Formats: sequence, structure tokens, C-alpha cells
Amino acid sequence: MTTTSMTTTMTSSFPAEILHRAAALLEQRRRPLLISHPRPDGDTIGCALALRLALLQIGSQPLLACVHPIPENVAYLPGAETYVSDVPEDVDIDLVIAVDMSDLSRTGGIYKDAWCGKFPLLVIDHHATNTAFGDVNLVDPDAAATALPLAALIDALGIPLTGDMATCLLAAVLTDTRGLRTSNTTPEVLRFVGQLIEAGGDYAGVMEKTLDSIPYRQMRGWAVALDRLQLDGQLAWATFPLAEKIALGIEDHDDLDLGNLLSRVAEAKVMATFLEMRDGTVKVSLRSRPGYNVAWIAKVLEGGGHHQAAGCSVTGDLDAAQARVLPLARQELAQHPGEGLGAADSATFARVSARR
Ligand code: AMP
Ligand code: MN
Ligand code: MN
Repeated sequence: MTTTSMTTTMTSSFPAEILHRAAALLEQRRRPLLISHPRPDGDTIGCALALRLALLQIGSQPLLACVHPIPENVAYLPGAETYVSDVPEDVDIDLVIAVDMSDLSRTGGIYKDAWCGKFPLLVIDHHATNTAFGDVNLVDPDAAATALPLAALIDALGIPLTGDMATCLLAAVLTDTRGLRTSNTTPEVLRFVGQLIEAGGDYAGVMEKTLDSIPYRQMRGWAVALDRLQLDGQLAWATFPLAEKIALGIEDHDDLDLGNLLSRVAEAKVMATFLEMRDGTVKVSLRSRPGYNVAWIAKVLEGGGHHQAAGCSVTGDLDAAQARVLPLARQELAQHPGEGLGAADSATFARVSARR
């Protein structure tokens, strides 16, 4: 087993007091419940799995829960098979840990009201919109992934990093940076990834299995979404009707990673995807180029996220959701007058098919 110590610069950006309080909670409690957010991504899953392995080393018995199934691209990570989709209110736990989520509603109902005041709540996160809803909040909004504050915590606990833990953390950081592409991919992030590889993390495996493996169903879904792609000036968006999801056998918890797909439209500064759900809501994913902020739009619509990647759910059909979100997106674009395309150019790029 390869092990390494993470005595790095990573810890320096964190107030030592918060790290110590978080570490003390983990040392005192032996039956923590780790919750990953709905429609889970590599960060929430990779971090919970890395923390599970770390806690097993100090004799804890962590329990992992997520309301939705673990996506295929992270299901190979060690411990993914131990996730449960819910726990009863009287479950035998003594600590709750919210992993990679900005507010309590993001536990998807796994957190039970009766636990409030009974078990301490530890929040480990990096969302700009985090509401500091825990008793201890290890939240770094500048971090590219929850993996970074989590690694600082594991380091503070003095737990050596194994190859398996490093692989889980690689899945987390490589997912949230879209393969080290995002503007928050700092030298610190690159050093962190280097340390994870040195610790025995399977970088090539994560790149291949997590980032470069798209299920056929998802690719077919991309075909539908791309056929419905629209561009108006610097705003790109696509809608995905429920009927198309049903035809392809796509469940509501599967967002096809459409937000990240659209984030690459060259002409666009702000991108939005609209997925119609079976419960009469529309799941909205927002993305933006550096310097453009979509977190406030999601927040206005009772969602949340980061400046460049945020999301929310809107009640109503696809037309209603577009009518609420697109004007806000245009408002953000209007904050940056004079940048990008002139009116004539944007007219040339606007390709709105009559079918839509
Ligand atoms: P998504 O568009 O679902 O990939 O989400 C982009 C980012 O926004 C992720 O960091 C999510 O955790 C966050 N996010 C998405 N939906 C919500 C929501 N309803 N409330 C709070 N945060 C959200
Ligand atoms: Mn996440
Ligand atoms: Mn994250």
C-alpha cells in the first residue's frame, strides 16, 4: 500500500481553528453519516468515498447515503457499492457530514429534522452560495473542488493518504475542474493533483473511466440536446422535453451532464440547459465563461452553485422555465457591454431553428 503525508501548502488558506474543530468532531464520533448531494457528481462521491476510507483507518464506521444512484462513471471507485439511498430517522449514527453541498435542502431529504441539535452537523464544501448551515463549516469558496478542503482535513487528522483515497480525490478534483480546464485550476490544484499521483492515485484510470466514458444512452441524449441547441448573441441554451427522455429511457436523476456539454459553445458567454422532469419541474443548469457570474441567477431561483456553474429547479413547463431564466441570463450578459460580438456578428451566429 502506498501512503504519503499531505503536509502541504493546502492547509494554509484555512483558519486552523476550523480545521481543528472539524478534526476533533471526526476523532470523537465513531458512527458518522456522510451525505452526498442528489444527481451526484464525481466531487460529492469521490470526497465521501475518500473520507470513508480515511475514517475506517481510525476505527470509525462511516455510513454513506445519496438519494440517487451512483453514476456509472464513478461507480468503480472503492466503497461506491456501500451507498444507501436513505436512512431511517432512528438510524444508529452520532455525526452527520454534508459533502459538497451549499444548503441543507441539498441532502435531498436524507437529513431528518429530528437530528437537529441531537447530532452535530459538519459541512465540507466549496460553493460560493454556501449558507454555513452546519455546526462546523469547512467551506472554501475559492477551492476548485471539495476535495481540497477535505484533503486538508484528512491531513489535519494525521491520516496517511493511500492510493485508493488518492484515486477517489482525483475523481473529485478532475470532475469539478472538467479535467483541469476551469479557471480555478490554480498552481495549488495542479500541485495537489501531483501529490495525489505520488500517493498512488490512478490518474490515467480516472481520466479514462470518469471523464472519458460516456454511456451510449447519454450520447444519444446529447444528440437530442444538440439538435435543439440555440444561440442568441452570447447566450446558448438547449431544452430537453420529457417525451424525449422517456423515449431514451432517461431517468430524472440523470442530467446527462448537459451543462458541461454546452459550456463549450465557443460563441457563448452564458449557457443554460433545461431538462423537463416527471414532477412538473424543470432542472436548469447554468454555465458561464470566466468573468461572467451565473451563481446569482440560480440563487434568485432558489438554487445555488458557483460563479461559473450553478443550477436550480423551476416549477412549470419548458416554456415557463425559459421565460424565467433567459431574461436573467441576458441581464448578466448586459453587465459586460462592449465585450465580444457586435450586433451584426451576433445576428450571423443566431441560428434558431423554426422547429423549436
Ligand atoms: P449542475 O448544473 O447540476 O451540474 O450544478 C452546477 C453546480 O450548482 C453544482 O456545484 C451543484 O452542486 C450546484 N447546484 C445545482 N443545482 C443546485 C440547487 N438546486 N441548489 C443548490 N446548488 C445547486
Ligand atoms: Mn457537486
Ligand atoms: Mn464540488
